[in-house]
Amino acid sequence: MSFTLAIVGRPNVGKSTLFNRLVGKRLALVDDQPGVTRDLREGDARLGDLRFTVIDTAGLEDATDDTLQGRMRRLTERAVDMADVCLMLIDARTGVTPVDETVADILRKRGRHVILAANKAEGRAADAGIIEAYGLGLGEPIRLSAEHGEGLNDLYGQLLPLS
Ligand code: GDP
Ligand code: MG
Repeated sequence: MSFTLAIVGRPNVGKSTLFNRLVGKRLALVDDQPGVTRDLREGDARLGDLRFTVIDTAGLEDATDDTLQGRMRRLTERAVDMADVCLMLIDARTGVTPVDETVADILRKRGRHVILAANKAEGRAADAGIIEAYGLGLGEPIRLSAEHGEGLNDLYGQLLPLS
């Protein structure tokens, strides 16, 4: 059985970098679709022997007629509702921000299974942010580096029981 994973988090934490790594070139063709469909990119992900659908909450930054927080909240809620499991990313180098707390609140209220990952975790600059991530109350964070492909084995370990 397959499942759908939504990658959520505030702008710039590395969601699209991870999405691209999981999907490679197997991106669903959504170019001609308007609005929220375009803002939620969907792709066929591969991680080891796992095959699943992954959703990237893209388009958070194009705040045109809307505030960033409002747009982020709506897009995140939509992505979460489409998913069986959510992967919340924070930026381990920045640590936990108030916007991260907002995302965590949305996830808690939606009652979805959540995996927490502290991205950009390559090197020692990430250590403080990883410790802060425990404070979100979403469990033990995975140490991830989407850019360098580190921590994907731990992500695999958390996704395996869902497959
Ligand atoms: P999004 O806005 O959450 O989709 O974030 P992006 O995937 O666009 O990444 C934002 C920035 O963080 C880009 O400059 C990425 O190259 C960078 N980035 C993503 N993952 C990593 C990582 O694992 N380590 C580091 N150092 N930078 C990363
Ligand atoms: Mg993005």
